[in-house]
Amino acid sequence: MHTGIASPASPTLPPALLPSETAFFLDVDGTLAEIVADPAQACIPPDALTTLKALRDAAGGALALVSGRSIAQLDAMLHPLVLPVAGVHGLERRDFDGRVSRMVVDTAAHRRLVSAVDSFASTRPGLQTEEKPGSVALHFRNRPELGADCLHFMNTECNGDSRLTLVQGKMVAELKFGSRDKRQAIADFMNEHPFRGRRPFFAGDDVTDEAGFAGVNALGGISVKVGSGDSAAHFRLADPAALAGWLARLLASRAPARGPAGEQERG
Ligand SMILES: [Mg+2]
Repeated sequence: MHTGIASPASPTLPPALLPSETAFFLDVDGTLAEIVADPAQACIPPDALTTLKALRDAAGGALALVSGRSIAQLDAMLHPLVLPVAGVHGLERRDFDGRVSRMVVDTAAHRRLVSAVDSFASTRPGLQTEEKPGSVALHFRNRPELGADCLHFMNTECNGDSRLTLVQGKMVAELKFGSRDKRQAIADFMNEHPFRGRRPFFAGDDVTDEAGFAGVNALGGISVKVGSGDSAAHFRLADPAALAGWLARLLASRAPARGPAGEQERG
């Protein structure tokens, strides 16, 4: 089935590439998983998970997720697949060998921030607070008319602490400590095995992915915007199903018995 796949006539479809020479970086929400009313209910479809596992094998392990979610949430969404991941927009990262690094944050200030956002949300039914390592997100997907109020509140909190960065996404405003972003997370992976020396590919759907697109473009890589809207990405696919379908076709078009997966499949 190829439903949801962008028109083959689209001039912006990404070019064919060799998984064995590519470092794949993928955002999750809006890119692999459809955005749903309750972020806790978002999931990567089983077919897409199967494709991710095959892509990881075909790319010799050079596949990482780069998301605003925490590593713990990403692991739960991928289970039983375990991949290198950058969580909370790069504030935490697990490399190919499983080593986790996290930005050190002032835990008292983080707790105070979470409690301030919680109390703002508690008087406005429908708003959701999401606490993450080194950050807190305020979701207003179920109360879009409160978006401006939410942004104003988060902006005021941000201005009260120079260590904070305000991140705006689709129906969400987030305050994170420090300024690490997806560009830096991708750059960190690109300095390490098995990503090093490969051509980076990054697909994402939201404002926070633009830093990643810029970084990948600067490295001569392939940047793919999923969905509509202005973007620095060079290529475009319609929705998560289109990306999963494109990746599945990329794998299907590989010559059998070639590539790094061959070794694992023997014997
Ligand atoms: Mg996203």
